[in-house]
Amino acid sequence: MKALTFEYNLPKYLLTGALDRRWPRVLFSNIAPVQMREIPEPELPGPDWVKIRPRLAGLCGSDMGIINCHESLTMQPFASFPFVLGHEVCGEITEAGAAVEGFDVGDRVTVNPMLSCLPRGIDPPCRHCASGRTQLCENFTEGRLSPGTIIGATSGVPGFISEAGIAHVSLLHKVPDEVTDEAACMTDPFSNGLHMAIQNPVEPGETLMVIGCGVMGLSTVAALRALHPESRVIAVEIDTFHSQVARDFGAEEVVTPPLDKKFYRAVAELTGAKMYTPMLAKPLLIGGVDRIFDTVGSTETINTSLRILRNGGWFNLLGIGEPKRIDWTPVWFKELTLRGVYGYQTEEHAGERIHDFDLALRLHAEGRADLTPLVTHKFRLDDWPEALDVALNKGAHHAVKIAFTP
Ligand SMILES: [Zn+2]
Ligand SMILES: [Zn+2]
Repeated sequence: MKALTFEYNLPKYLLTGALDRRWPRVLFSNIAPVQMREIPEPELPGPDWVKIRPRLAGLCGSDMGIINCHESLTMQPFASFPFVLGHEVCGEITEAGAAVEGFDVGDRVTVNPMLSCLPRGIDPPCRHCASGRTQLCENFTEGRLSPGTIIGATSGVPGFISEAGIAHVSLLHKVPDEVTDEAACMTDPFSNGLHMAIQNPVEPGETLMVIGCGVMGLSTVAALRALHPESRVIAVEIDTFHSQVARDFGAEEVVTPPLDKKFYRAVAELTGAKMYTPMLAKPLLIGGVDRIFDTVGSTETINTSLRILRNGGWFNLLGIGEPKRIDWTPVWFKELTLRGVYGYQTEEHAGERIHDFDLALRLHAEGRADLTPLVTHKFRLDDWPEALDVALNKGAHHAVKIAFTP
């Protein structure tokens, strides 16, 4: 079968990462570690696994980090090579192991890609898996599968940018008939947004700010709108097309970078904050934004966020930038809460225990959210160079989510 495959080769990795900004075509050259290859179809690792034919497989921002060789090297022990990319999928079950219950061949499903204790056959599970927080699993390198946090970043379980993938039964979520393939394929980023929206104790009337309106930012705007309709959402985005989508998704205001004095003044006006201007440093707001959701995670967005939050405000970090020098002064001076966000889990929400994936699908089935329009571009597997080209120039192509139709 055809599969978008990453082969680890340190010289090639370093060379591609060094060249890609000046010469983007390096990503389609023989130097690049990512290639479309012909590989054998995956076997089921156990009777409690299913085989899935992807109908739609999303290309994630984290996949792009792998493809252009800029992913943080810290994550290397939590992956194994070579692997097939793709962890965002809406697909159809084509084969079910003998011990699979509740799912049949032909079912339309989406897959929680976390390769935590249960799919790894580890019993009893670690403390976090036992409480439904599988994204915090302590066994991502243990058990019957090779090291990897998610499907699509491990040699043990091929990802879904391919003609066939596999998944453990515990990772499957049935897609209701009312939900489109596109919306189902967006369950992973949307669930991430929901996880963040639920973990923040938002009060009605609060001002929430989402920095960056790519897939994650727009998914976060949609999640905040669906779960906290009485709050105000301000987005920060430079691209005009993405700004318009943010407005369509319910952001009341979109403020544009650069994050200079004009930006601070605009935020101060929108929040009724006082602005102080130190002599040799950036301004500082008192009484600013209640909560920030930073989907960029650069030195600049983190530094600015800390300075424009109100006293006691919350900073949520979900972007995978490469931050360098951070001025932590506002963190102690304003007693800020800093929170890292990764993936999704079983939540306590509105009086029930529900997995973010099920909540995402339910919000779609009930018409309370619709991320269908975010899948702007679809490509056949053979057209992967075109897909990468669009992914590298999203603004020019009016692109948000790029997906494959294997
Ligand atoms: Zn993703
Ligand atoms: Zn675990």
